[in-house]
Amino acid sequence: MGIKENVRKILSEIPEYVTLVAAAKTRTAEEILESIEAGVRYVGENYVQEAERVLPAIKGKCLLHMIGHLQRNKVKKAVELFDMIQTVDSLKLAVEIDKRAGTIDKVMPILIEINSGREPQKSGVMPEDLFELLESLSSLKNIKVEGLMTMGPALESPEELKPYFRLTRKLFEDASKYSGPNIEMKWLSMGMSDSYLIAIAEGANMVRIGSKIYGRRK
Ligand SMILES: *Cc1c(COP(=O)(O)O)cnc(C)c1O
Repeated sequence: MGIKENVRKILSEIPEYVTLVAAAKTRTAEEILESIEAGVRYVGENYVQEAERVLPAIKGKCLLHMIGHLQRNKVKKAVELFDMIQTVDSLKLAVEIDKRAGTIDKVMPILIEINSGREPQKSGVMPEDLFELLESLSSLKNIKVEGLMTMGPALESPEELKPYFRLTRKLFEDASKYSGPNIEMKWLSMGMSDSYLIAIAEGANMVRIGSKIYGRRK
């Protein structure tokens, strides 16, 4: 099947309240444009440089989300390019985003990435550290915390991801009661090509899908 058919099939099987983010790492601008023509409205990129490469072709046709780990020396560019940064996992990074967004009069929507598998080598905030982070972020005027994102550990079967999705959903619900001028929990971003239906069943309202749209990565 081609990219267009893949997108239409996914859009037809996910509920309307679920937002599809097409995970476009390594794909060409032409491939991304094809997915946009079939109904993709949000495109996720993992690297600032890749986003810069495809942006001229797709600008104005979709919103662009940063879904990869963001290095602090790339924040200035990221704040200019992206409509949302889904991978904020430290106060230092958030402060840098806030500072850079402030200089261009932007309020940057962000998600907090949760290390739901508590894997030391992976990025993301440890679940028990979320509320302290939210507290520290609440005074930053040029970011807006709009939800949580998680990957979960790499496991044999997507079914095994359930406890990690469930944990993140619980944090999302608890955080939704946490109010702050710049905190409004709207998005729970979890689920990829193999796991999006499970993630939606566990409460996701944003899914990030790559290979099921564009085919296997080389
Ligand atoms: C690549 C990627 C995805 C999509 O992965 P697929 O298995 O190709 O659907 C989702 N989220 C992030 C953060 C990714 O890097």
